[in-house]
Amino acid sequence: MSSRPRDPSCLFCRIVADEIPSTRVFEDDLLIAFRDIAPRSPTHVLLVPRDHIASAAKLTEDDAGLLGRIFASAAEIARSEGIADGGYRIVTNIGEWGGQSVDHLHFHLMGGRRFSWPPG
Ligand code: 5GP
Ligand code: ZN
Repeated sequence: MSSRPRDPSCLFCRIVADEIPSTRVFEDDLLIAFRDIAPRSPTHVLLVPRDHIASAAKLTEDDAGLLGRIFASAAEIARSEGIADGGYRIVTNIGEWGGQSVDHLHFHLMGGRRFSWPPG
């Protein structure tokens, strides 16, 4: 895997480093999960790799382990948040038209209400 050093100007790298506070709901050696500062659903958690990866467009097959961990963690958080039975959504936005505003890979885990399809 190519090296992905922390970017000191990156908001989520700074949250990973605890330079900016967040409400963490889960963390392990590969990722942290914390509550979105502007939740768009009753449960809105961001799952963020500790490594700086700009977006899902930069993932490679070498990231299979990271992605497995992210999705397994999301399912565990969904259970602990009480949204697993009703169903929920996992989203990652890529680039300007995809709606990405923070250029550090993150997955939105959203639940606690019904979502429409397709997204706006
Ligand atoms: P994106 O728009 O890139 O898909 O998602 C970025 C998310 O990060 C947004 O939902 C936004 O509310 C959230 N966010 C931005 N700044 C902060 C922050 O300082 N703390 C937390 N917890 N969430 C943030
Ligand atoms: Zn970063």
